[in-house]
Amino acid sequence: MKTIGLLVLAGALLGTPAAWAGDDAISVIKCSNCAEWNQPQRPFNVAGNTWYVGTGGLSALLITGLQGHILLDGALPQSAALIEQNIKALGFRIEDVKLILNSHAHFDHAGGIAALQAASGAVVVASAHGAQVLRDGTIGPDDPQYDPAHPSRVSRVAKVRSVADGETLSVGPLQVTARLTPGHTPGSTTWTWTSCEHGRCLDMVYADSLTPVSADGFRFTGDANHADRSVAFMASIDKVAALKCDVIVSTHPDFTDTMEKQAAKTATHNTFIDPDGCRKYAAEARKRLAARLAQERKG
Ligand SMILES: [Zn+2]
Repeated sequence: MKTIGLLVLAGALLGTPAAWAGDDAISVIKCSNCAEWNQPQRPFNVAGNTWYVGTGGLSALLITGLQGHILLDGALPQSAALIEQNIKALGFRIEDVKLILNSHAHFDHAGGIAALQAASGAVVVASAHGAQVLRDGTIGPDDPQYDPAHPSRVSRVAKVRSVADGETLSVGPLQVTARLTPGHTPGSTTWTWTSCEHGRCLDMVYADSLTPVSADGFRFTGDANHADRSVAFMASIDKVAALKCDVIVSTHPDFTDTMEKQAAKTATHNTFIDPDGCRKYAAEARKRLAARLAQERKG
């Protein structure tokens, strides 16, 4: 597989691809937020065996175990090397990552997965919809951000398996459960597991994006080409609010104050523990979606 040096993204959204040169792997994506998102970030402990190994603006979590590790998300293509360095800096080996789980198959969370899979040999797991996007290397017309002139692409991923809602995946004693939370994309997935520290086991949540971001003209309330998504989207938000949740980390770390929590964390006080975290995240999402739906219904 040949590697394209640069994929240039332009556009009003988080970045809609402006150029694409074929089916090959993408090593760098440029978008309006990409440089800021890809700032290097020193890895840190979230709780127990859960570590933040992402970049300054895009989350990736490592759950570690004696029989292998689980990595959540791969950020941008150009983030893969940073994530790999972060895993190494913590004293873990990329080769011991057995599973790579995806939140949703947009370039800013799945872009680095192909390279991380190549480095680790891990099996990649996503929702059925997400897995299909990762195999195809492109989002389709059912994605709110689909722009036919500039379809968003990710490097195609080999060895992707799909997971059902509520299904639990294991690596040795590690167990992570998929919670389908469609809305931001049709395949959006929130992941839950437990991490134990100081004799207490915490309910951990890696919450997928719940933002109603779309290409121009797309309506979450439906149109001639799309069914209404608003009810399912609200249900996903309610589902996140109702999760057993001691610690939440969102795909974009700023949505759950990840860096602020890290800065305030001490050896005796884990500031990531917040039993209201999921409800707060959901409440913000509910407000944003309600505003979007009201705007669609007005105009
Ligand atoms: Zn997205």
